[in-house]
Amino acid sequence: MSTNGSNYDVIVVGSGSVGNPTACFLAQTGLKVLVLERRSASGQGDNKAAIGGVRATHSDPGKILTCIESLKIFSTWEETYGSHIGWKEGGYCFPVYTESIEKLLKGMLPIQKKFGLDIDWVGPERIAELIPGIAEEGLRGGTFSPHDGQVSPLLAAVAFQREAVRSGAVYHFNEKVTGYTREKNRITGVVTDKATYGAGTVVLATGADAREHSEPLGIDIPVTPDSHEAGISSPVEQFLAPLVVDLRPGPEGRTANFYFGQNSEGQIIFCYTPKELFVGTNRESLSEFLPILANRMISLIPRLKHLLIRRVWRGCYPMTPDGIPIIDCAPGIDGLVLAVGMCGQGFMLGPGVAKLVTSLVCEGKAVFAGDIPNPFRYDRDISAAKKEALK
Ligand SMILES: Cc1cc2nc3c(=O)[nH]c(=O)nc-3n(C[C@H](O)[C@H](O)[C@H](O)COP(=O)(O)OP(=O)(O)OC[C@H]3O[C@@H](n4cnc5c(N)ncnc54)[C@H](O)[C@@H]3O)c2cc1C
Repeated sequence: MSTNGSNYDVIVVGSGSVGNPTACFLAQTGLKVLVLERRSASGQGDNKAAIGGVRATHSDPGKILTCIESLKIFSTWEETYGSHIGWKEGGYCFPVYTESIEKLLKGMLPIQKKFGLDIDWVGPERIAELIPGIAEEGLRGGTFSPHDGQVSPLLAAVAFQREAVRSGAVYHFNEKVTGYTREKNRITGVVTDKATYGAGTVVLATGADAREHSEPLGIDIPVTPDSHEAGISSPVEQFLAPLVVDLRPGPEGRTANFYFGQNSEGQIIFCYTPKELFVGTNRESLSEFLPILANRMISLIPRLKHLLIRRVWRGCYPMTPDGIPIIDCAPGIDGLVLAVGMCGQGFMLGPGVAKLVTSLVCEGKAVFAGDIPNPFRYDRDISAAKKEALK
C-alpha cells in the first residue's frame, strides 16, 4: 500500500444515490472533494436498482421536507444544468379497493397537506382516467399527487457526477475504503486498498454496506440490508402518467404491495415488496418474481398482458430499525458525517439528503425548512415502533 498524502476538505465514501449529489453540492460551495467508490463506476450500487420513483407524499415530516427539496432539484435539473435525467412529472397514484387502505391513505392526508403537498383523494372515475384500463370492479377511488414523478437513476448518477467534477470534485473508482485515520476524537482521513488520504471531514454514504464501517469507526451503524427485485419492459407508446402503487397484499400470499410506472422512454418499470423480507445482500434474481409480478399487474390492468419484459434485477434497501434514515454528525467522532439507512427511498431522498449533509458540513447542523429539529438524528429512539407504513 502506498500513502499518497493527498489532502481534501471532504471525502465522500460511496458514489450512489446519496454520495453523488452530496459530492456535487459540497464541491459547488468551493470545498475540495474526493469521492471514493469501490465499484467501477458511478451509481452502480443500489442506486441503479431503484425504479426511479420520486415523491414527497410521505407521512414522516423529515422525509416530506427532504423529498420536497429533492423534487425541486430533479424537476429543474435539465433547465439548470442542461443534462437530461429522465424527469417525468406524472404524479403518484394509489388506487384503492379496500376500506382499510382507504382509511390508511385518508389518515395521512392532513399531515401531507399541513406541509403544503398537492395530494387529494379522488373518485374511481378520476382513477380510471389516470390509469387507463385499470380494473374498475370494487375500485373505491384513491390518492393522486400530480407533482411527484420519476427520474432515471442511471442518468441522474452520471449527471450529478459530471456537475461534481465540473466544480472540482475528484472521483476514484475501484477503490475500497478499508479504514480510517484519527487523532484523538477527530477523524483525519481514510485508508483504502490503494492509498491513504487526509481530510477534515468524511461523509459515509455507503448504502447497504454501511454496517461494515461500524467496527473500523468504533460506533454502531444500525443498517441491515434486505433485497428486492424489479424489472423493466420494452418501450410502448406513452399511456400511463403516474407511478402506481397498489398497497393490497397479493392473493398469492407472497407480496405485500407492488408498484410500477412508465418511464420517460416508454418502458414499464416495476417492483414488489415481498411479504417475507429477504434479509441480506443476495442480488440473485428469483424465478418466482416475474410470474407473481405479471399476475398482479395483469389483474390490475389487463391490457398489460401484451408487454414484452426486457430484464429483471435485484438490489437492496439499506434499512434502519424504524425505517428512517440517519443523517447526522457521528457521536464522539468529530469530522464524521453519517448519511446512511435510506431504506426503500434513497433515490428520492438523495438530493435533499445531499443538501442536509452540505449544511451539516458547512454550518454544523442539518437545516430543514421551518427550522425543525433534525428528525434523522443518530441518537433518536431507533426502535421499530415508528416504522412507516409505506415503502
Ligand atoms: C428494486 C428496488 C427498487 C427501488 N426503487 C426505488 C425508488 O423507486 N425510489 C427510491 O427513492 N428508492 C428506491 N429504491 C431504494 C434505493 O435504491 C436505495 O435506497 C438507494 O439507492 C440507497 O442509496 P445510497 O446512496 O445509500 O446507496 P447506494 O446507491 O448503494 O450507494 C452506496 C455506494 O457506496 C459504495 N461503497 C460501499 N462501501 C464502500 C467502501 N468501503 N468503499 C468505497 N465505496 C463503498 C457502494 O459500492 C455504492 O456505490 C429501490 C431499491 C430497490 C432494490
